[in-house]
Amino acid sequence: MDNTKFGRHEKSGFVPKDLISYGPLFSWPPKLIALLKWLPKYYFFTWNAVFTLIGVGFWFLLTPPLEDMKTFQLRWILHLTAVNYALVVVWYGAWHGWLYMLRRQDTRFKYNSRWPSIKSAVFVFGRQNADNVFWTLVSGVPIFTAYMVVSFWLFANGYVPFLNPSDNPIWFAVLLVIRPILFDVHFYLVHRLLHVRLLYKYVHSLHHNNVNPAPWSGLSMHPVEHLFYFSGIVIISLMNAHPIHMLSNVMEASLGPAVGHTGFDKLELGDNRVISAGDYAHYLHHKLFEVNYSGGVVPLDKWFGTFHDGSAEAEERLKVRTKKRKEVYAKRAGKA
Ligand SMILES: [Zn+2]
Ligand SMILES: [Zn+2]
Repeated sequence: MDNTKFGRHEKSGFVPKDLISYGPLFSWPPKLIALLKWLPKYYFFTWNAVFTLIGVGFWFLLTPPLEDMKTFQLRWILHLTAVNYALVVVWYGAWHGWLYMLRRQDTRFKYNSRWPSIKSAVFVFGRQNADNVFWTLVSGVPIFTAYMVVSFWLFANGYVPFLNPSDNPIWFAVLLVIRPILFDVHFYLVHRLLHVRLLYKYVHSLHHNNVNPAPWSGLSMHPVEHLFYFSGIVIISLMNAHPIHMLSNVMEASLGPAVGHTGFDKLELGDNRVISAGDYAHYLHHKLFEVNYSGGVVPLDKWFGTFHDGSAEAEERLKVRTKKRKEVYAKRAGKA
């Protein structure tokens, strides 16, 4: 596989050729032709489509009868818990196994040329992967399952409207299309909040211990962060939605982070085919901390001055911003 047409390998790791950019959804003046070309790509040929499909499959094949979910009963709650554990273990295990245990593409397309450090005192059990698996399974899965349980209970009892696609197919389709955008905005707001000093220190720093992330790092979060991060599951259920919308959100929130933290730009499929399997913007967030808070479709970082597109100019802007902030802190400390 010749990966030089996609970028270059430096000593530190793989650098994609194309700078990070947003789709034309919020371009001003609007770029209609570009938008029409981009939309199908964004919705049908990205991981969004996969998460929506898994959400649909979950609804038809794995969801207990709505009637049973009117009251909290151990049987259906354990059923959902078991399915969620199975999904997460298989999905994260597959990414980790392929890229980090079998090392099927070695460090080709890997953003950081080094493999994650095996031992470090910052991690639970002193090991990055064991720590990541621990937080994912002990905190992540139970918390997103709890949000799912509450959402299903709300739907089952009619405490929130249950959108029947045949009654309102337009809103059903619109919500399906705008759901990833809402997800992105929610993620950005939560993430910005988590970078407020005390929350960062006591909560979000746990996720940032992963400076060289791997798939299981994705959901390696403090329980308080899981509570914030997964809250979108219930929020979307309040929007005159169908459980499929909620389940698509669950899949993006629970399975998406494995893809966003692979540490690789592309996944090789055979000798000549690759698919996108990483998130360079988020990798830069793990590396540089105060850039690229958002997930990538709404240009929030651009609007609020924290966008880093991977270029030397962006690096320079970050240096200036960091210097200014240090000066402000120094001044404040001087006054105190
Ligand atoms: Zn962060
Ligand atoms: Zn992350």
